[in-house]
Amino acid sequence: MTVCVVGHSNPDTDSVTSAIAYATLLNAQGTEAKACMQSDAEGLNPESKLVLDRFGLTAPEEITDAAGKQLALVDFSDIAQGPAHLADAEVVAIVDHHKIGDVTTNNPILFRAEPVGCTGTVLNKMYKDSSVAIPKEVAGAMLCAILSDTVNFKSPTCTPDDKAAVAELKGVAGVEDTDGLFMDMLKAKSAVAGVPAKDLLFRDYKDFDMKGNKVGVGQLELATIDQVSDLRDALMQAMKEVKADGRHTVLLMLTDVVKEGTDLVVLSDDPALIEKAFNGKLENASMWIDGMMSRKKQTVPNLQEAFGC
Ligand code: MG
Ligand code: MG
Ligand code: MG
Repeated sequence: MTVCVVGHSNPDTDSVTSAIAYATLLNAQGTEAKACMQSDAEGLNPESKLVLDRFGLTAPEEITDAAGKQLALVDFSDIAQGPAHLADAEVVAIVDHHKIGDVTTNNPILFRAEPVGCTGTVLNKMYKDSSVAIPKEVAGAMLCAILSDTVNFKSPTCTPDDKAAVAELKGVAGVEDTDGLFMDMLKAKSAVAGVPAKDLLFRDYKDFDMKGNKVGVGQLELATIDQVSDLRDALMQAMKEVKADGRHTVLLMLTDVVKEGTDLVVLSDDPALIEKAFNGKLENASMWIDGMMSRKKQTVPNLQEAFGC
């Protein structure tokens, strides 16, 4: 059976490119595999589209139902972030850089998770460990994933391993100006003109279970917060609709990549709890949190502590 390599729902660049990179590695090692994603090509975020175009890669095929399939998970291990019926699939491998989620298996599997900034960094090591050469276009895509996940090395999630991987991958991919590449990606990912507010909220969005409460956290990485100043009301309306669908809290991180901080927009059954989580004070349903760049390393752990997880 062909192994479907798939990243998390609402795929980001790391999810998409890691599916391609790991499927390519598995095939080189003699395991039949194909890259998949939880989106159709149309639904891909603009940054990922740019990355695939830039390096001449085709979008992974869409997977919606995991039942009866063999899956390799990249960039996640939370059931809530997987395709439908993940419990009825056989997970054969996991490569990740997040907290360990709630996926379980009946058999021993390859499980490689490291506290680095990007799954692409872990995969770069796996290619080296197995002495498989990374195809040029795949190296370019992995490089983009690391720049994206680490916000061009500015995120607190970034480690020396990520920088070392970029230094290696840019040579393989023939990319000289990684800053320029990152700015092109940022321009694409922060483009808001003509995009419905709900699409913006879901562009980079994850749901979490916090002590039985469903908490959604979206993030928009922007060159400046002003890019969304006219969209505030529309974004809040979209958050209301999403919250009405059984959520305790919906947060939207408006992250200013240049100022290196986040305006956190909050819609919650318990706003005081969220204020306490981030030691801030809400004004017009939002608060500026200096230095906040990472949902994984800053937002989610604070929420988990506040919710008593
Ligand atoms: Mg990701
Ligand atoms: Mg990632
Ligand atoms: Mg990200």
